[in-house]
Amino acid sequence: MQTIRGFRDILPEHISLWQRVEQEAFSLFESFGFKEIRIPVLEKTDLFARSIGETTDIVEKEMYTFPDRKGGHLTLRPEATASICRSYIQHKMYATDPLRKFYMTGPMFRRERPQKGRYRQFYQIDAEVFGIESAYIDAELIFLLNELFKRLGLTGLTAHINSLGCPECRPSFQRALLDFLGERKELLCENCTRRIQKNPLRILDCKVESCQQALQGAPATIDHLCPACADHFDIVTTTLKKQGVEFMVDKSLVRGLDYYTRTAWEIKTTTLGAQSAVAGGGRYDGLVQELGGPATPAIGFAIGFDRLVEVMAQLEIETPKPPLDLFIIALGAAALEQAYHWSCELNQRGLRTEVDFRGKSLKSLMKRANKLNAAHVLIAGENELKENQLILRNMETKDQSSLSMDNLVPELINILKS
Ligand code: ATP
Ligand code: MG
Repeated sequence: MQTIRGFRDILPEHISLWQRVEQEAFSLFESFGFKEIRIPVLEKTDLFARSIGETTDIVEKEMYTFPDRKGGHLTLRPEATASICRSYIQHKMYATDPLRKFYMTGPMFRRERPQKGRYRQFYQIDAEVFGIESAYIDAELIFLLNELFKRLGLTGLTAHINSLGCPECRPSFQRALLDFLGERKELLCENCTRRIQKNPLRILDCKVESCQQALQGAPATIDHLCPACADHFDIVTTTLKKQGVEFMVDKSLVRGLDYYTRTAWEIKTTTLGAQSAVAGGGRYDGLVQELGGPATPAIGFAIGFDRLVEVMAQLEIETPKPPLDLFIIALGAAALEQAYHWSCELNQRGLRTEVDFRGKSLKSLMKRANKLNAAHVLIAGENELKENQLILRNMETKDQSSLSMDNLVPELINILKS
């Protein structure tokens, strides 16, 4: 049996970078007042269709959707923002405290062409803030991402920032875009020819070569902002500049989801070839209301966890693990039984201890102790048991001492914890 295309196992020998990222990210989120939320992997299809947008790539071709037995359609979540909005509304969180900050991590599912940095089940680390319109929260989220990547030792990342405007400035921009594309219609792909009626903004995000060509010199949202959006964006960029956060204003950045308004950004790396975005985020001031909640400004981002780990591996970022404190070599049935109880008790009291219960020879168990990088080895053979003199070996200094079995556990804790 094999995993299905685009799905993969993340094996224990590769997990330390994942754990390191989670620890750094979660502690940073917590320090900025974010709380963890856990949401289902499966939702009604309608939630994603309505929020991400009917004419987006995700909804048009990438979702894992299937009919429920009782009618209706279900979808494996392709992203987290829609579900977190649903949760915010469903539990009427706005009524008790409209200002909420969430973070989560978990698998997302998109049926894309698998390649390095692009999988059909992939992981995101997600953060969302509800109830704050101020541009300082936009700056804070970009600062937070920058700080996280710095703590993880990442280099070669650039933040691309843009403003997509609001419903106030959209019509003027849309008109300019349609005027511009009017003379270049024959260059557009089939998909975009269809989108030009329904959702012209999506064309800006099309990856097809001829569409990219058609878009050369196209108008940009940032040049059509209403005064309120222009001021908002100005605060974001001025604040980041003051803090020394490096970024570039990227007029062509639009993001692949319909719900974004005002600030949108992507963090790009130079090390992963075509799969260059390691994180993406933006404001979505209209979405909560769109999904049936009260008008609530909101903003969030998602980190591509798989890609982040790949960048870290490429930069050879190490995650040293604490070694095993003690490996017990027990030879013979009586010693094995004793070792079982010592090991359980030592672990209970906080000492990482292992026993190999397979009844192997002293030589092969010493090899294993080395492989496990054990700091100490306790040897309990038949003779040692008979004479009540166990051997404790410090694997680094090679010093050996003998220990009596009476009071062994407290004695070991004394020695090993010092
Ligand atoms: P891309 O342009 O690379 O397709 P996207 O804009 O579709 O990315 P978002 O929806 O913004 O991606 O998701 C946020 C992050 O999740 C991306 O920046 C990326 O790092 C990661 N990501 C998205 N799709 C995948 C995937 N299929 N496999 C692995 N990571 C992904
Ligand atoms: Mg995509």
